[in-house]
Amino acid sequence: MGKIISIANQKGGVGKTTTAINLAACLALSGKKVLIVDIDPQGNASSGLGVNLAENQKGVYELLADQASLDQVIYPTEIDTLKIIPSNVDLAGAEIELVGREHREKVLSTVLNDVNEEYEFVVIDCPPSLGLLTINALAVSQSVLIPMQCEYYALQGLSHLLQTLQRIKKSINPTLKVEGILLTMYDNRPLLTSQVENQVKKYFSEFLMKTVIPRNIRLSEAPSHGKPIVLYANRSKGSDSYVELAQEVIQRTKGEITSHETKLEEITQEITYEEWIKENKLRDFLKK
Ligand code: ATP
Ligand code: MG
Repeated sequence: MGKIISIANQKGGVGKTTTAINLAACLALSGKKVLIVDIDPQGNASSGLGVNLAENQKGVYELLADQASLDQVIYPTEIDTLKIIPSNVDLAGAEIELVGREHREKVLSTVLNDVNEEYEFVVIDCPPSLGLLTINALAVSQSVLIPMQCEYYALQGLSHLLQTLQRIKKSINPTLKVEGILLTMYDNRPLLTSQVENQVKKYFSEFLMKTVIPRNIRLSEAPSHGKPIVLYANRSKGSDSYVELAQEVIQRTKGEITSHETKLEEITQEITYEEWIKENKLRDFLKK
């Protein structure tokens, strides 16, 4: 059975798409059969892998709207073992259309029903919101990987996200796990980065992925060439870090690294954002 991983964080620009593309590519290059599903109307994961749908081509919108079968919307990429269900602009309307559907949180689950027999990993790139598209992704996933940029406001968003995950676990997908929090665009010089990292470590150490993604210019250049980092600049620090992340995810999936699952309840119950603020010296730090 394959594993479906959502890359989610309602905060924009934290490295979701960069992580989805490069994790999927590195998993595929290590011999796994991988499908990436782009459910963000911005379509950045699609264009970042060089897949730009023409107006008459069908994508994830048609799949969700029952206007296309799974086979019709799966496209090849430059890597043989990596396939994609691309997004198209019509998807912007899907969020509204989904509201009126029966079992509206489960539409993606239904259409992806058989997909994980064929693929060892399915990676879903979510939009920067906790709307119905993201909820559909979380409803079908075994786990969620949360990219987080090291900055002060990241903590606030994280609290909200974990509460949402908790609700989804209770109501729609009881087996949803947190794959981990992935620190992205990490720069070990500025004081702020280390302050935030320390806060995250204090409260969420159980969740932190071992791999940290450095800030690396090559990672930001690669999408305009329609390539994952491993094909665009495979000797860069950015490339090394995503190779390492893929290995970590494979190990976790084999059960070689313990799962984070049991801690989710404890953490969301025990820590509120107000408590963070009280203890959080960062507020004072930012005022200076
Ligand atoms: P959105 O919420 O809009 O979907 P996102 O969370 O998917 O954004 P990305 O698109 O992956 O975020 O990244 C935002 C920007 O930061 C992009 O221009 C990307 O190229 C750049 N970026 C992401 N990760 C890194 C990194 N590790 N080093 C340097 N630049 C990065
Ligand atoms: Mg994105």
